[in-house]
Formats: sequence, structure tokens, C-alpha cells
Amino acid sequence: MAPGHRAGTVSRVISHATTSPVAGTSAALAEAVIDLGAIAANVRTIGAVTRTDVMAVVKADGFGHGAAAAARAALDGGATWLGVTSSAEALALRAGGITAPILSWLHRPDEDFGPLLAAGVDVSVSTVPHLRSVAAAAARCGQTAMVQLKVDTGLSRNGARADEWGDLVALARAYETAGSVRVRGVWSHLQDADQPGSPLVRRQVSAFRAAVRVARAAGLDPVLLHLANSAAALTAPATRFDICRVGLAVYGVEPVGHANFGLRPAMTLRSSVVNLKRVPAGTGVSYGPDHVTGAPTTLALVPVGFADGLPRSAEGRAEVLVGGGRCPVVGRITMDQVVVDVGDRPVRLGDTVTLFGPGTAGEPTAADWARWAGTNPNDILTGIGARVARRYTGVTA
Ligand SMILES: *Cc1c(COP(=O)(O)O)cnc(C)c1O
Repeated sequence: MAPGHRAGTVSRVISHATTSPVAGTSAALAEAVIDLGAIAANVRTIGAVTRTDVMAVVKADGFGHGAAAAARAALDGGATWLGVTSSAEALALRAGGITAPILSWLHRPDEDFGPLLAAGVDVSVSTVPHLRSVAAAAARCGQTAMVQLKVDTGLSRNGARADEWGDLVALARAYETAGSVRVRGVWSHLQDADQPGSPLVRRQVSAFRAAVRVARAAGLDPVLLHLANSAAALTAPATRFDICRVGLAVYGVEPVGHANFGLRPAMTLRSSVVNLKRVPAGTGVSYGPDHVTGAPTTLALVPVGFADGLPRSAEGRAEVLVGGGRCPVVGRITMDQVVVDVGDRPVRLGDTVTLFGPGTAGEPTAADWARWAGTNPNDILTGIGARVARRYTGVTA
């Protein structure tokens, strides 16, 4: 059980300020209802599987769920760290009153790291120029920068390559001796984690262990080693180390296709029927028209489109839940609207349309939309647009 976990039967409602300008207005054409209880429960589930601490990754506005609200729910579920990319994301969490440990991992080399250090945020460092900037900011501010060094073990994205690692750890050790830096962690990111048993994962674990040995030999004493993302955390024990950096699974999407860990999707995307018309066979629908009705039917207009995050590439496959059943989206997914063929279902003007949700009431999931669009669920969740109102519900136990 992860530290910070509160077992028990007392339920309480979490309420937070919403982040969207249209949230809370009844005129919103679409809303994303975020179940904070699901986020907390998912973190508990993950911690029970990994038996490590959990760093909840709340980058990209908490994968579209709202970073501060998602962070609080994850902490409530026992997460001990938060992970973000930019300094702006980290500082926004601090401005929202969140005091938990935060790691921020993507920066320009010439960034002024002063605000991040003043906010007590750990900085990930992958290059010597970044390290110099961090140490300079620490010296300017008269404090010790908490740093986590990132090694590239095969992803070829951020992180120092093995042939650069020796220089990076040696300089970090020199700054430690001078008092401007303390290396709290060493970490890396996996290339092929969603393929359980991938030999690439084994190779990266070995490379990671080797990098940690080099860091220790240079005199560093990192106490926080981490490598696993969601998929690895749940399926590859050798990748777990001290803490797992979990994004997708926190939001309730099963990260590995064939495995089910009982995660609960936290976001439900809903809209409503704003026009309804009975049409004969041979009626062209929306632009093109790409779709022509094959029989007399009823068409429902739903005011949510690609500007709200519905992928255009799901055309011809997407379905929604309306009138008690699944109905196909027909014709093009346009910027602001889609048309749904509801057939002879008893659908009325104003009825709720569920685009995706947990899948427990027959609605599609974000993972279904990802499959229809040929993308991944992260892309669907982070794509939900700013004009979709976020509404928070959820009771944590
Ligand atoms: C986004 C991200 C994660 C979270 O990945 P999931 O697969 O969503 O769990 C972890 N680590 C890093 C470096 C990331 O960029």
C-alpha cells in the first residue's frame, strides 16, 4: 500500500474550482464529467499492484482532466509525487495550493530555473548545459537545487546517452560538493513498455542499472530511481524500482490491451440532441455528402466536433450512446457538430448523448474512440477541447 493511502469507509465529496471558462454554465454544448473518485481508486489499484510509490503524471492538464483536480484526487488515492513536463505546469500546481513533491522534466537549456527552485520543484536534467543553468539559478537564489538526472536507455528522446552520462554525473557531483545541487533521483523512460515481455524493456532495465552504477561510482547517492510508466508498472516488475510514473492508468485506461486491472475510466464526455429530423432514404448527410441514408430514419444533431476533440479519422466507425442504445455517427465529423443515425429509437430533442465513458452503461470508451481513429487513448483524452466544460464529481473512500 502506497504511503499516504487512507483506507476506510468514510466517504466525502471532493469539490474543486473548475478550470474551463464555460464550466458550470448550463449553456455548455458538451461537458466532460470527471470522476475524481475513479482517479483516487485507480491510484490505489496501481499502488496495490506495484507495491511501490506512485508518481501521478498530470502533464497536459492532467491528460485533459484538469491538472490540479486530477493531482488532488491522485494524492488522495495515495500518490506521493506528481510528474509534469514544463515549469509552467509545475508552477500552476503550486499556485493551486498543491504542496506535494513535483518533478518537472522538459525545459529549454537557457530557462531561468529560479522560479522552479523557489517553488521547491525537482528539476529533471539531461544535458550539461541544462545542469549549468540549474546550478547557476541555485547559486543566484542561495539554495540547493533538487535534481533528478535522466539517462537515455534506448528511447532516443530526452536523457543523456551512455557516452555523455559520465560527464553529466561528474559535473553534478562537483555541484553537489559546491552545495548548489543535490541529485535526488536517476531515471529513464521506456521505449516499448506496452508490449509485455519486449526484449527492449529488458535491455533498458540493464542499461538503467548500469547508469545507476556509474552515478554511484561518481559519488552520487540517488534515493529515487524510476523507469516504469503505466504499462510497465502494471506488467513488468523489473522496471518498478522506487516509484512508478503513471499517467494513462491513473485516468482509468487499461494500458495493455489484453490485461484488465480493474481501472475505472475517469472521464465521461457528454452532449445532447439539439436537432432531430425524420428523413427519407437517399438523404445526404453533412459535407460531401460522405453518407447517404439507406432507409427512412431519424437523424440527431449533436453539437460536438473535432474542435472539441472528436477525431475526424473516426468517420465511418464511431458510435455513441443515445436513446438507450449504440447509434452510429454518420457522415463527416465536422468542427462543431456530428450527426447520429438513431433509426427508430425513441429519441427526443434534448436527450443526453454519451460520446464515451467508463463503458459500464453501454457507452463507448475513450479506448474505443482511439481504435476507431487509429490513435491511442492519450491522444483522445488530451485532445478534448477547451470549450468542453469540465465538471467534477466523485466520492473517495
Ligand atoms: C507521459 C509520461 C509518463 C506517463 O506515461 P503513461 O504511459 O501515460 O503512464 C511517464 N514518464 C514520462 C517521461 C512521460 O513523458
